[in-house]
Amino acid sequence: MADPARLSINQATTREQHSLAQAIAAYSQAGVRGISIWRDKLADCGLDEAVRMIGDSGLGVSGLCRGGMFPGADTASRQANIDDNLVAIDEAAALGADCVVLVCGGLPDGSKDLAGAREMIRDGLGAILPHARDAGVPLAIEPLHPMYAADRCAINTLGQALDLCDQLGEGLGVAVDVYHLWWDPDLEAQIRRAGERTLAFHVCDWLVPTTDLLLDRGMMGDGVIDIRQIRDWVDRTGYDGLIEVEIFSAENWWKRPGDEVIRTCQERFEETV
Ligand code: ZN
Repeated sequence: MADPARLSINQATTREQHSLAQAIAAYSQAGVRGISIWRDKLADCGLDEAVRMIGDSGLGVSGLCRGGMFPGADTASRQANIDDNLVAIDEAAALGADCVVLVCGGLPDGSKDLAGAREMIRDGLGAILPHARDAGVPLAIEPLHPMYAADRCAINTLGQALDLCDQLGEGLGVAVDVYHLWWDPDLEAQIRRAGERTLAFHVCDWLVPTTDLLLDRGMMGDGVIDIRQIRDWVDRTGYDGLIEVEIFSAENWWKRPGDEVIRTCQERFEETV
């Protein structure tokens, strides 16, 4: 069983129930030790106020969601994406976040050039890495399940993400999310390869059937992922940081009282992670 002190909750898990201030209060009151913060909620609250509240709460910040989205149809849009990532890095530094989570982006509108999109991702990463290194903020590439390759992320396996880390070097690592990676026959070997580049570990479950591509993630234990097995592989890399529950669930968990969701996260974390 994972140490309950490693539990962090991604605030998207209660995004319909809580503002950032409410999430910080509810998680820390329940004894949860970490939170991952979304930038839209951060903007509603204001960075200075968020930094103050996080400091008072004692919560660890397991990640800032999100940077990335590098591809664009023209130079100006790609530069705007880069500029937005630079702001995210500054926000993560102010919050003391463990990393900026990067959802790298898919095909530009009207494009069928998947290889080209992947080149734009590599170039975008290269453009923001110097600022991330200066700020001391690690960048975590989060490979997303291939069903998102067109519109969210053209980096779809841990192996692909690690190839980018190999090319671009220091300051870059990976976020291992069981939802996106559980199906990969090469997963154990790639987690071993990730080693100390493992910057974040996200858990939820894969429901059968899944009724929505984005908003039907399951609570740990309600689906088919052997989470404990994957956690064991991740532990063997030496990763001993926060383990983040991240559940987008429009028809189930977003409709329940926030306290019930938090309590269930804690129970299932002990049972399945
Ligand atoms: Zn994730």
